[in-house]
Amino acid sequence: MSITPKVVSLTPAVFHLPEPVNAVSRTYGANPIVPRGPKFRPILDRVRSGLVEALGAEADYEAVLMTGSGSTAMAAVLGSCLRKDERLLVIRNGAYGDRILEFAQALGQPVIDYELPYGVRPDFARVEELLASADAVAMVHGGTSTCTLNPVAELGALAKRMGKKLLMDGISSLFVEPIDLAAWNVAAVMGSCNKGLHSHPNITCTIVKKDLLDEMGRFASRTPNLEIHKAWTKQKGGAHPYTIDPMSVLQVDAALSALQAEGGVAGRHATYQARAELLRAGYERLGLKIARFEGQPLQSIGTMLEIPAGNSYEAMADTLASNVVEGRVFEIYSAQGKLSDRYFRLFNMGEYPLEAYEVFLKALAQAL
Ligand SMILES: *Cc1c(COP(=O)(O)O)cnc(C)c1O
Repeated sequence: MSITPKVVSLTPAVFHLPEPVNAVSRTYGANPIVPRGPKFRPILDRVRSGLVEALGAEADYEAVLMTGSGSTAMAAVLGSCLRKDERLLVIRNGAYGDRILEFAQALGQPVIDYELPYGVRPDFARVEELLASADAVAMVHGGTSTCTLNPVAELGALAKRMGKKLLMDGISSLFVEPIDLAAWNVAAVMGSCNKGLHSHPNITCTIVKKDLLDEMGRFASRTPNLEIHKAWTKQKGGAHPYTIDPMSVLQVDAALSALQAEGGVAGRHATYQARAELLRAGYERLGLKIARFEGQPLQSIGTMLEIPAGNSYEAMADTLASNVVEGRVFEIYSAQGKLSDRYFRLFNMGEYPLEAYEVFLKALAQAL
């Protein structure tokens, strides 16, 4: 008799989720909830306040839910938090900065493009120069394509001094990296309920500063069903302008409880750091080289590594996905776009015991 090996995802798509989230998936069908009915309101209220409370941002920010993935939150923030004539400086040093530029241009936003090589820290003298002729600035916090963190706190201080609006892509950093939205002067965040929060990738969140939300009521609409102000107005009353899946909202609720049980964002950060430290020490023992960029700390969610000489990403990925080690197989992740010839990525996200990563290091040693 053969036992199916357990697949461990070393990708940033979190697919092993907390047991309370899985419990919702198993039991929801017996007692579904009407999307705009009276039972929905308390759940929506609890989730919206739980999201900002988990971030310690409840005094100044509101969470607005949207059906979709992280990219939906990007489109919603870019299309809702700016007036159509505001000039947006896009600082991009990775694949998701490229996506911010692409989406902003598709929306017809006037943009100033500050492009850097992937992973390279922005030069703040240059940022200041460019920001002088912009009204707002957008940057990714957790640079998933290079597994590094961008200096949002510094950018926020500069934006504050210059009176500019800061939009942050927090899709891979929310709920797992330490973030102080108010201190960093962030006006709006593109979020995710999948990555750091460990719920399903079918509902997402945006986190918007209350004073900006009030102003947004006067902005022209540009993203028909992703308009944050319109959704917020309805969600405050326990509804949604379009159908939203109550099961997904309940899963986010369960994911928030699981996060709290882990000690909140600080606890989850510690869990991820412990994994990253174990893994990085193991990579170094195996002679693998971690990609590092000057002045850019590593993300706690994963590590980018150089593909060792004589190996290929495809060969390593095939071996790790098929060679069963202590009941587990592993799905790893290539690097993005122009980095994929030289690098690959190993993420340590989702619901796994630390032991799974010890086994992974053995599997990796065999694959090399
Ligand atoms: C994953 C990711 C996105 C895109 O999110 P999807 O859920 O794949 O749509 C955007 N920005 C960053 C930084 C990401 O890590």
